[in-house]
Amino acid sequence: MGPLSSKADSTWRGVGRPGRGELLISEIFGPTLQGEGPSAGKSAAFVRLGACNLACVWCDTSYTWDSSRYDLASELVAKPTAEVADKALSFGVPLVVITGGEPALQAVEAARLAEAVTRSGSAVELETSGSLPLGPLADAVRLIVVSPKLANAGGRPQARLRWPVLEAISVLPHSVLKFVVASPEELAEVDEITSRLQTKPERVWIMPEGTERETVLARMAELTGPVASRGWSLSSRLQVIMWGNDRGR
Ligand code: SF4
Repeated sequence: MGPLSSKADSTWRGVGRPGRGELLISEIFGPTLQGEGPSAGKSAAFVRLGACNLACVWCDTSYTWDSSRYDLASELVAKPTAEVADKALSFGVPLVVITGGEPALQAVEAARLAEAVTRSGSAVELETSGSLPLGPLADAVRLIVVSPKLANAGGRPQARLRWPVLEAISVLPHSVLKFVVASPEELAEVDEITSRLQTKPERVWIMPEGTERETVLARMAELTGPVASRGWSLSSRLQVIMWGNDRGR
């Protein structure tokens, strides 16, 4: 377990970077189920990385990046990548999800983590906002779930929708798009983005925004018709339905 470097920059939103050969970790947990997206319901372990370049207003993992609300020195820890891989594999599950925060901030070491996990026989799924290049991480994982942020996330469009990055990721055959949506009206934004990216409907997932069971279920009911009519898939948030907004499950 190494100390955090004092070196910080604006992309990391003031969070100190880990040292060489380390990953900045928020939490590693399992066995649990992947609650969202194409792998929903699958047995999985999670590696949640610290720091994010965005600041979505509805972020349910702001403890990974928001120094105004959390003591990040106690929330985040730098660990050797090999140790992280061993811990993720110790749960004995067939799928390891690398999420955040924004994993692309640590693309090189996250790629090493993914390669180590893959060598040991588990699949790796990456969750990213698609606002930063993935570098070697793109080829190191089996599935990339890209979640471009809509206006409901707040922030500047230029920061959350970086078109060259999104275009480069979305053409990869092992990538899908997953949008967090609060109401059917917001699907017009998804129409625009998927049209510009020329994404086939079978590679689009819509997931309701919400950290309470009732909100998730109500929004899923509202979204079902318009999502199905477009040929897209509707994602639940199984972890919210089962455990509310509990961490580490
Ligand atoms: S990109 Fe993800 S982790 Fe970062 S602020 Fe948005 S929801 Fe939170």
